[in-house]
Amino acid sequence: MKIAIMGAMVEEIEPLLEFLGDYKSEKIAGNTYYTATYKGLDLVIAYSKIGKVFASLTASTMIQNFGAKKLLFSGVAGAIDPKLNIGDLIAATKLCQHDLDITAFGHPFGYVPEGSVFVDSDRELLEISKDVARDLGKPLQEGIIATGDQFVADEKRKDWISKTFNADALEMEGASVAVVCEAFDVPFFILRSISDSADMDASFNFEEFLKSSAKQSAEFVIAMLDRLAKK
Ligand code: SAH
Repeated sequence: MKIAIMGAMVEEIEPLLEFLGDYKSEKIAGNTYYTATYKGLDLVIAYSKIGKVFASLTASTMIQNFGAKKLLFSGVAGAIDPKLNIGDLIAATKLCQHDLDITAFGHPFGYVPEGSVFVDSDRELLEISKDVARDLGKPLQEGIIATGDQFVADEKRKDWISKTFNADALEMEGASVAVVCEAFDVPFFILRSISDSADMDASFNFEEFLKSSAKQSAEFVIAMLDRLAKK
């Protein structure tokens, strides 16, 4: 079974590559794709670069060029839910694009015709993540993740996203990956560890906690691979 693991930034996939140690690499359309095997699983790993467009390109490539049958995203996010602290893990139950706006035509925020405001994550992968969290003794929150091509460092924008989509965390890639995976009927799982609270301190916190939070997320994904290998 070919499993794709993606991040947006190199820091998000580095812990995985370090853990695997042995991998091949291949360049396609400006991104490097790393292939490896782990406990009988065939893996393809890449970071997309930041934002929805690059993330869509990478997810599509992993599915179409590498034949990925499941996709796991590992990375960092800004917290909306005040219960989420730096380093905490959140798995998306569903995702939306907070910056998608054709409301001028009477549509809700995040909606375009033939699309939907929210894309649901795969139930089975969410169940596996709950088992893994229990095994590791690590709290894992489930919630709605809102995605947009903006680094949010502003309470007002954060509150608007919170109210409009009932979102618990926000980032810049998840929903676009979800849209691609849904279109190709590939089960996906979006995991994020909190790097900041999307407020006026966000950029400082992000710089400080990117590496440690990215590592939290990557370690959890490795534990999910252990579980998937047993299936
Ligand atoms: N420091 C980087 C830019 C990081 S952009 C540079 O200068 O190159 C933030 C990245 O982390 C995105 O990939 C996004 O998915 C995630 N993220 C973390 N906190 C975020 C926030 N408050 N708003 C939006 N995205 C956030």
